[in-house]
Amino acid sequence: MIPLLDIQAQYKQIGAEIEASVVDVLRSGRYILGEAVEAFEHDFAAFCGTRHAIAVNTGTSALHLSLLAAGIGRGDEVITTPFTFVATVAAILYAGARPVLVDIDPLTMNLDPAKVEAAISPATKAIIPVHLYGQMCDMVPLLKLADRFGLVVIEDACQAHGAEYNGSRAGSLGLAGAFSFYPGKNLGACGEGGVLVTNNDTVAKAARCLRDWGQEERYNHIAQGFNYRMDAIQGAVLGVKLRYLEDWTEQRRQHAAHYDRLLSGIETIELPHVAARRRHVYHVYAIRSPTRSRLREDLAAQGVQTGLHYPIPVHLQRAYANLGYKRGDFPLAEEAAQQVLSLPIYPELTPRQVEAVASAISSDVHVH
Ligand SMILES: *Cc1c(COP(=O)(O)O)cnc(C)c1O
Repeated sequence: MIPLLDIQAQYKQIGAEIEASVVDVLRSGRYILGEAVEAFEHDFAAFCGTRHAIAVNTGTSALHLSLLAAGIGRGDEVITTPFTFVATVAAILYAGARPVLVDIDPLTMNLDPAKVEAAISPATKAIIPVHLYGQMCDMVPLLKLADRFGLVVIEDACQAHGAEYNGSRAGSLGLAGAFSFYPGKNLGACGEGGVLVTNNDTVAKAARCLRDWGQEERYNHIAQGFNYRMDAIQGAVLGVKLRYLEDWTEQRRQHAAHYDRLLSGIETIELPHVAARRRHVYHVYAIRSPTRSRLREDLAAQGVQTGLHYPIPVHLQRAYANLGYKRGDFPLAEEAAQQVLSLPIYPELTPRQVEAVASAISSDVHVH
């Protein structure tokens, strides 16, 4: 059995170090924010090459605060992709703004900058590119458009810790970037976690204030704010894990290159497309197959677990029907949703396991 993801494999390697960091927090009596979280913020900002990192309780909160800190709210429109986890769109709605969706580039499956301009209206205030699967969007054309129309760019980097575009790290190119530390992400907490990164001092100050009930100082509330604070235990765990992230990312990239070599001869599937000037961090290794459900079942029968990221685009979810879109509005996202299949990828996967997955795929293709 080869799982899609094996979180315990990572814990086995560094469990002792994690446990020691958690014990330190337990003994300190400081359970929310505090030194462990501040140290992690400092290290994560350095990792992204940004001036600030503000740790919060989830990636969704980081997106929400990015929008609020950028002054986006009721009456504003925010452009993003329908081919993402629903949190991207939910955060826009939490801010009181209207999500405007734009179809994807069929190769990278990221928001297509060439289609964004037609969606800009006088109410448009921001664009949220989602760096899907760990590969950054085409940022230069997006930043140029944003500049021309006076829009803000907020990066949904929840799947893209350490990804690069022209040598710049995810989260460092927009006004702000949001990361998630959900356990299955490339950098995962032992629970929920998220962070907002920015080079903008004003955005950083607003986000720090809003995550902690809008307090400027204790009991002086200058905005309504939220309880979006990070737990000290998560800060300590993330601080330990961040030291391993570069190695883990290189292991993911090696597994991806190995899959690429082993699967490149199979004509009925499409392999992940890495665009120029990108460092892909392979949160997900998604192939495309026109006969996905059969392939998925056959792989399951051979002990290979796979995932679907994502089977239903946001505009076709019942919860988002009131956005006013219908089937056919984003044909490329809809087609991708029917064809993508995520193969097992995580640092501790062995080359043998990669080979076993690839041969399960080849044998399936030969049978049919
Ligand atoms: C995981 C994820 C989120 C949300 O992060 P949470 O920490 O679960 O709130 C948002 N956007 C994308 C693209 C994600 O993958």
